[in-house]
Amino acid sequence: MIRERTLRARQKLVGKLPITGELLRGSLLERTIRHTKGCPKCARGEGHHVFVLTVTYPGGHTRQFSVRRERVAEVRRWLSNYQDLKEAIETVCELNHDLLRPERAASKRRRKQHD
Ligand SMILES: [Zn+2]
Repeated sequence: MIRERTLRARQKLVGKLPITGELLRGSLLERTIRHTKGCPKCARGEGHHVFVLTVTYPGGHTRQFSVRRERVAEVRRWLSNYQDLKEAIETVCELNHDLLRPERAASKRRRKQHD
């Protein structure tokens, strides 16, 4: 019974997986760049707002990519797809732990039916 319930829950999750190639891992940060000279905007103290995608790799190594303002919404969506997919995968793995548990009652029932 638990097994069927787990399989149903797993199937429901798999059906909702955001299957897409539009995935990005990392964090989108907004930074302010200030030029030291020759820029009126920075001279007024405004600076320039830029977006940077920071991706961390095992061992603490990181890579940074600048993101154009017009692509920020898209990048946020791709990051969100990644998080949703990752959460769903983790949940499926947790459900699969239940499926690994031996279910004595169920196998006994099945054996009786075959007798
Ligand atoms: Zn400037």
